[in-house]
Amino acid sequence: MDNQLLMSEKTIFEKIIDREIPAELVYEDELIVAFKDVNPKAPVHILIIPRKAIPRVAEANEEDQQVLGRILCKAGEIADKAGVKESGFRLVINNGKDGGESVPHLHCHLLGGRPLEWPPG
Ligand code: 5GP
Repeated sequence: MDNQLLMSEKTIFEKIIDREIPAELVYEDELIVAFKDVNPKAPVHILIIPRKAIPRVAEANEEDQQVLGRILCKAGEIADKAGVKESGFRLVINNGKDGGESVPHLHCHLLGGRPLEWPPG
């Protein structure tokens, strides 16, 4: 497989990580990146993603424990910066077709800024 083909297989989120397309970044470290969702479903809607291209949670493995832990451990800090730590927020990871996954790069939605219904539709 040549480089062109490999490059064309990048997901939109890999392009955001590589700064090839713009996004409003709110947090980053050596393992994860967080940025505002382009089509927000709540007043605060942030996506927290691993730098590593793990397609979805069902394909994560033992060696991904640190990065997956980082996503959860940093969620409170990211929510705090976004002003929703006290009011509350929800973390969602969609997996596969029925789960509503549309971008095949694992991402955790952080939603807040309004009361969220339960269960989701
Ligand atoms: P999923 O449906 O896969 O769980 O979530 C994908 C999310 O990515 C959606 O909420 C969608 O609005 C968001 N998204 C898709 N393309 C882009 C983009 O180019 N930039 C940003 N910031 N968010 C995106």
